[in-house]
Amino acid sequence: MDKKRILILGGTAEARELAARLADRDDLAMTLSLAGRTIDPAPQPVPVRSGGFGGVAGLVDYLGAQAIDLLIDATHPFARQISANARAASRETGIPLLRLERHGWDETDGDRWTRVATMAGAVAALGKDPRRVFLAIGRQEAKAFDAAPQHHYLVRSVDPVDPPLDAPQVEYLLARGPFAVEDEVALLREHRIEVIVSKNSGGEATHGKIVAARILGLPVVLVERTAADDGHRAGTAEEAERLADHLLTSLRKRGV
Ligand code: NAP
Repeated sequence: MDKKRILILGGTAEARELAARLADRDDLAMTLSLAGRTIDPAPQPVPVRSGGFGGVAGLVDYLGAQAIDLLIDATHPFARQISANARAASRETGIPLLRLERHGWDETDGDRWTRVATMAGAVAALGKDPRRVFLAIGRQEAKAFDAAPQHHYLVRSVDPVDPPLDAPQVEYLLARGPFAVEDEVALLREHRIEVIVSKNSGGEATHGKIVAARILGLPVVLVERTAADDGHRAGTAEEAERLADHLLTSLRKRGV
C-alpha cells in the first residue's frame, strides 16, 4: 500500500503531539513545517522543514512537488496568515485541509477578564492612568503598546523583542513555557503587576498566568480569536488523528 503523505503546519504543542501520535504509522509519511522564527526550536518527532513557503503560490507548489495527500493546519490560533494561506492552497489544489486548533480558555468564578478583539483594543483597555502591565503575548505584537507609553511593561517572550519597544519603562524577560502557577504568582508579585495582557491561546503551557491572576485577584485583558471558519476541525491531537484517517479513507475509496 502506498503511504499517504501528510504535511503538518506546526509551531505548537498540539502539532508536536499529533506528529508523535502519527510517527509510528507505516501507512503514513509525514513532514512537519515550522516558520523557522524560533532561534532554538524544540525537537520534533518527525522530519521537519523550516521557513516560509512564499505565500499561497509557494505553498501550492510545495504541496504539488511533495505529492501531499492531506494538509493539516496545526498552527497557533493567532497565526492567521499561514492559516488563511492553507485554506487558499487547499481550495486551489483540492487537497483536503484539516484544522487542529486547541480550545480557548473559559472564564470561571474569580476571573476578572476584559475581552477584546484586537491588540489595539487591548492597548485601549489598559486605560489612561499608568499601570504595571505584564505583556504575555509573545514578541510579534508587543510594539502595539508603544501607543500607551505611560504604563510600565514587563514583556515575556521566547526570543528577544526586536526592535524593542519605544515606550520608556520596559523590562524584558526571555522564557519558554510551560509555566507553573506558583512561579507565575511569584513573578506577578515580584514585579508588582497590576494587570495582565494575554491572548486567549488555550492549552496548558501558558494557562498558569491566568490561574495566577485569579489567585491574586488581578484583572486580565484577553485578546480573543477571530471567528472559526467552516471545514474539517479538531480540538485535540486525538480527534485530529481520527479525522485524518476518515479523510484519507475517503481519498482511498475515490482512488485518489
Ligand atoms: P503568521 O503571521 O500566520 O505567518 C506569517 C508567515 O510565516 C506565513 O505567511 C508563512 O510564510 C510563514 N509561516 C508561518 N507559520 C509557518 C509554518 N508552520 N511553516 C512554514 N511557514 C510558516 O504566523 P505567526 O503568527 O508569525 O506564527 C509563526 C509560527 O509560530 C507558526 O508556526 C505558529 O504556529 C507559531 N506560533 C505563533 C504564535 C502566535 O501567537 N502568533 C504563538 C505560538 C506559536 P509564507 O507566506 O512565506 O509561506
